[in-house]
Amino acid sequence: MNKFNYFQPTEIVFGAGRISELGEIASRFGKVCLLVTTPSIPVLEPTYKKAIKSLQDAGITVAHFDGVEPNPTTEVVTAGANLAKECKAEVVIGLGGGSSMDTAKAIAVEATHKGSSWDYLFYRETQPTEKTLPIIAVSTTSGTGSQVTQVAVITNPAERNKSALFHSLLYPKVAIVDPELMLSLPEHVTASTGWDAFCHAFESILHPNTSPIVEAFAWRAIEIVINTLPQLLIDLDDLEARSKMAMADTLAGLCIANAGVTLPHGIGMAISGLYPHIMHGESLSIVYPSFTRFTVNDAIPQFAKLGRVFNYPLNNETDDILAQKACEYLDEFLKKIGMWFGLKDFNMPENEIGLLAKNSMILPDYKNNPKVATEEEMLEIIKTSFSL
Ligand code: NAD
Repeated sequence: MNKFNYFQPTEIVFGAGRISELGEIASRFGKVCLLVTTPSIPVLEPTYKKAIKSLQDAGITVAHFDGVEPNPTTEVVTAGANLAKECKAEVVIGLGGGSSMDTAKAIAVEATHKGSSWDYLFYRETQPTEKTLPIIAVSTTSGTGSQVTQVAVITNPAERNKSALFHSLLYPKVAIVDPELMLSLPEHVTASTGWDAFCHAFESILHPNTSPIVEAFAWRAIEIVINTLPQLLIDLDDLEARSKMAMADTLAGLCIANAGVTLPHGIGMAISGLYPHIMHGESLSIVYPSFTRFTVNDAIPQFAKLGRVFNYPLNNETDDILAQKACEYLDEFLKKIGMWFGLKDFNMPENEIGLLAKNSMILPDYKNNPKVATEEEMLEIIKTSFSL
């Protein structure tokens, strides 16, 4: 067995109703908090009220920054960081999907350091220091795993670029994963975020930094998504199914924090950087059919095992056959969960195919794929993903 490291400093508080513990948990880190969310809409209002009540009952002063938008921008982070400084926040709480949790992480850095969060991206010389405010993450989607990762994904609209801060100080001190908060998620966001969790798990298995712990968590997450997500989309009020998806999301988050993502995420980040109206999960579904065909022959055992998870009756087939079948099963799965589209369906201008291919090679993720794409191959993958 190869040598490996596994690290996870986030305390995970999992279970229905556990949002009520937010105040007691936050009081361990300070008396003034910045609560970071998307704007209040009727379905989210009860969640925000529960969080604020729990915090106030614990004697915590709450400043509420509700300016987060999906695929959060550097401007959004700056607005939140200014409020954090103004109210002298001692702890930052991200309550929502990946966009809110990542904004909270980036605010925790920008509010305590010179410059903007964009100056602290993973490849910069300047990196977050111990001054970074403690972060608590409360997830309300089941997809990004951000509640247990050291990553904050942000978009710079001026550069049409999406990138990430990546630092161990960005691990939330505590993650509250309360499946009741996910009951209000609409069908399409449930599908898109659930698909993201699948991608995190599968790409972590393909990543060179995978390990026996990552593989164990990732295969469990994959089984849960395949066996739960289609049924959940039929009954969105099924709390048990919501709990299973929240578990899969958290397991897959632990996987990306310790291994990482590959080619689809590199392209997906470039897609949302150029076209922020495309949700993260959508960007991944767009690219998966071309990615699987491009990669399968260089990862036969992993694709074959995926084929077996999809279809136990085929267990006696050879790995080669099952690996190819897995690509077809994934297509069918995407269609079943309503996530089958090409870039064209999101009105991407065809004359930007070259630009997207170029941007897909900015982040190093594509280099961690079992087969590393050349520039020509990347262009071909994007062309195939344009219209499915
Ligand atoms: P999101 O946070 O953008 O939320 C999507 C929409 O759903 C928003 O309008 C939000 O208000 C709404 N919403 C969230 N929870 C809801 C609920 N319970 N009920 C009703 N509406 C709800 O979506 P996301 O997919 O969770 O996050 C995407 C972001 O996370 C992207 O920027 C992506 O790049 C990033 N990401 C981060 C990591 C990480 O490790 N930090 C990993 C993967 C993706």
